[in-house]
Amino acid sequence: MRAVEVPAAGEPFELVERPVPEPGPEEVRVAVDACGICYSDSYVREGTRPGIEYPRVPGHEIAGRVDAVGERVDAWEAGDRVGVGWHGGHCFTCDPCRRGDFQGCENGEITGLTFDGGYAEYATVPAEAVGRIPGGLDDVEAAPLLCAGITTFNALRNSGAGPGDLVAVQGVGGLGHLGIQYAREMGFETVALSSSPDKEDLARSLGADRFVDAGEADPAEALASMGGARVVLATAPSAEAISEAVGGLGRNGEVVVVGVPHEPVPVDVAHLVGTRGSVSGWASGHAKDWEDTLEFSALRGVTPTVETYPLEAVDEAYGRMRANEARFRVVLEP
Ligand SMILES: [Zn+2]
Ligand SMILES: [Zn+2]
Repeated sequence: MRAVEVPAAGEPFELVERPVPEPGPEEVRVAVDACGICYSDSYVREGTRPGIEYPRVPGHEIAGRVDAVGERVDAWEAGDRVGVGWHGGHCFTCDPCRRGDFQGCENGEITGLTFDGGYAEYATVPAEAVGRIPGGLDDVEAAPLLCAGITTFNALRNSGAGPGDLVAVQGVGGLGHLGIQYAREMGFETVALSSSPDKEDLARSLGADRFVDAGEADPAEALASMGGARVVLATAPSAEAISEAVGGLGRNGEVVVVGVPHEPVPVDVAHLVGTRGSVSGWASGHAKDWEDTLEFSALRGVTPTVETYPLEAVDEAYGRMRANEARFRVVLEP
């Protein structure tokens, strides 16, 4: 098969020929039809996360078909359309697993990081790390929903917001353009916050009821004038933007961070105390969560905006993602 591997930390991608991998007894082999390129793939490419063994095939937004199953797998069969995200399986025996918190597994695997991922024609993955792709979503649409989609969907559905509540999505990019659609379809009064005024038409077309130009208006004052946000979903990795959003929280409001800035975030604790507010974080979910994400997306017509590339164009594709030039998610079609 053809695969794109990172030969060693920080080294350029190489398009190589490899034997098609055989699934282990509790694994399935997925024929990859589409694989998204996510910012977190830079951990592998740039070698910025310890413990990765090389060479490594990145890719944790895999959409494809089950092609073969291991001898102890009975939940899946060849031909099933499936997706694989960041959470690449769990041990079932550690304390978090025994409490049903599979995402918290102390021995968890990560797709495309602790084992080879989807920048290839085939990938073998633990059977518990695949979720079904419903009809109505094609592979290219499904792929980015397996990381960018699930992250925003799961963060919003696990927040305290209910129908009609004011929910702001900060950032209109790879995560935010999905977050706005989910917020709208979950029944929230949806506000898009962006420092790019040229994103207003797009944000409104994605379902935003209101748009705040954060370069022009103070986002905290703007949200306060609307009654205060129940949730601000912070998708752009900007400490300043997160900090500003805190002042826009209403009663029991919550800033939920999904785009992580690599610096500390100063927070107005007095405002949090006064509103009983909080700042929290959220990371993706497990296979059943992305199955839910895909089903909801198909039901309500939530789709990502994507650019597609063949495997041999991986450098260009990855470069567009890294330079923040992609509109909005980049997908390889092996
Ligand atoms: Zn990701
Ligand atoms: Zn575990």
